Amino acid sequence: MLQIAGTVPQDRLPVQEIFGPVPQGEGPYTGRCACFIRLGRCNLHCPPCDSKRTWDASRYDLSQTCPPRAAEEIIEAASEHGAGAGIVVVSGGEPLLWQGTAVWHRMLTALPGDLHIETNGTISPNEFTTGRVAHFSVSPKIGRMGAADPAKRRIRPAVLADFAVLARQGKAAFKFVAADTAEVEEAARLVRDSQIPRDRVWIMPLGDDAAAWTAVGRTIVEQVMDHGFNFSGRLHLTLEVR
Ligand code: SF4
Repeated sequence: MLQIAGTVPQDRLPVQEIFGPVPQGEGPYTGRCACFIRLGRCNLHCPPCDSKRTWDASRYDLSQTCPPRAAEEIIEAASEHGAGAGIVVVSGGEPLLWQGTAVWHRMLTALPGDLHIETNGTISPNEFTTGRVAHFSVSPKIGRMGAADPAKRRIRPAVLADFAVLARQGKAAFKFVAADTAEVEEAARLVRDSQIPRDRVWIMPLGDDAAAWTAVGRTIVEQVMDHGFNFSGRLHLTLEVR
């Protein structure tokens, strides 16, 4: 964490954006009223990432795209954007990079209501985070998403085992982004090897607009159903909202 934290002051978190209320667009909580808090920095470098402003220092000045903010500022901004009315989704980047900090502890303690974390599944949640968070959306990177990082960096069996336990408890769901049938099979192998319950798996077609998502979705939906997995929309693309 400290290596990635870089120049962020110890009592601050880098925040790319806080927005809402909006419908959660993906996975099992699709349609739920949500406030999103998007934290900066990531430990992966997925080529199709739609949040490169959180981590890609070769393109962006991260001090500008993700200015450091105190926990109190984050909570106030979240309250202005729907926190308390519905779920609060802490996303990134990779938000669990920050779970060892005091400011993370303060933020999670003070945010109202059910907290969800969106993570790439490379870092196990600690005891405090696990206790405070209602739901983990775990998205290990495979196929085109994982093309820039070696497998040992993006697939951590011990971490996936921890999240599989949470999935069996109904506290986590897995979301794999797949671009074609081969990537659905890659996800299926990982699900089997990690003993992830199939009914806690969502496959989401790769696509950054509704037409692309639909085109990929049509090619994989039958196979997704054959595996007993769930199919994830991207409601914000369909509705053309955030
Ligand atoms: S893990 Fe998520 S935030 Fe990080 S590079 Fe991949 S898609 Fe982007």
